[in-house]
Amino acid sequence: MGDLRKDYVLDKFVVVPAGDQTMALDRRVEEGRCPYCPGNESMTEPAILALVVKDGMLQRLSDSEDTVIDDWSVRVFHNTDPIVATVPTSTYSDKPLYSEPAYGYHQIVVASPEHRQSLSQISVEQWANVLVVIQDRVRWLYTQKSVTYVSIYVNSGAGAGALLSHPHLHMVTFSSIPPVIEMEAEGSHRFMNENGNCPACNIISVESSGPRQILATDSFLSFSPWAPTYQHEFWIYPKRHMTSFSKITQKEINDLALMMRATLGGMSKTLKDPAFNLVFHLSPEKKNSRQIHWHIEVYPQLSTWSGLERGFGVYVNQVRPEKSAEILGSASRKELAGLVGIV
Ligand SMILES: [Zn+2]
Ligand SMILES: [Zn+2]
Ligand SMILES: [Zn+2]
Repeated sequence: MGDLRKDYVLDKFVVVPAGDQTMALDRRVEEGRCPYCPGNESMTEPAILALVVKDGMLQRLSDSEDTVIDDWSVRVFHNTDPIVATVPTSTYSDKPLYSEPAYGYHQIVVASPEHRQSLSQISVEQWANVLVVIQDRVRWLYTQKSVTYVSIYVNSGAGAGALLSHPHLHMVTFSSIPPVIEMEAEGSHRFMNENGNCPACNIISVESSGPRQILATDSFLSFSPWAPTYQHEFWIYPKRHMTSFSKITQKEINDLALMMRATLGGMSKTLKDPAFNLVFHLSPEKKNSRQIHWHIEVYPQLSTWSGLERGFGVYVNQVRPEKSAEILGSASRKELAGLVGIV
């Protein structure tokens, strides 16, 4: 396990390897066999959860010492080369050289048995299965000791930090709230105090049917944000005020699956399969912690940052978000029509 070091003065955290080990981020990649493919289950840790679809019913199974579940639709296991771990090996140190053990769980969610199907190609039904599994895992992780925050993210394509092309998601827990969530929760809390309502609910009404809307379904809205960090960045919000992903209903899961598949499919087709990151911004679930209206952010990786972005936190975006919404909107609507069978 590594150490979680905090900057001298800023709320910035860096995970560094403990002692003199270097972190081997998925050392199996070079062996030429994909550890996430069916048949290669022995290359990963045993499945904590293997979702099997049988006669239209979902079965939640797990591997035991002598049985490996095959025919799974979604498979979850502990990452072999985790960023955080539950084996305490390192020690604490004080400011200004603050460090704590990088304690937590790092689970991998394999989103499909099909190696070549990306998250922009899997079926809507499969996306719903993935979301059911994420909800199951979020609920379980928040019952564990020292889990203050569950971060869920996708690296898709080498340009977005993916080591394997097989479609998968990461779930990494931390014993403190990550800085971006802290910032969003803080800003949200301030807005709430000044205006008496949730800023995201306000944004949803501003962006609905406006020039930055991409797609609207029954329960979700996707749009290009007013000030996007990345070219063609887009966000997906539940229309009703919701702070916890754990409480989302099955109907909302199915609707979100359709939204995810339509927007990612549209993005991939119109932008020629870009590498991208996708993150879930959820509220911390501890009592008394500041809440946010949960949402998903998608960051296509189409250009590299310059010194201005890296050194000063000022972003230059080559595409106006209004133009981006036009491009992504038309592609996503086309995709949606294909998915629901209206041509
Ligand atoms: Zn594979
Ligand atoms: Zn809200
Ligand atoms: Zn956010």
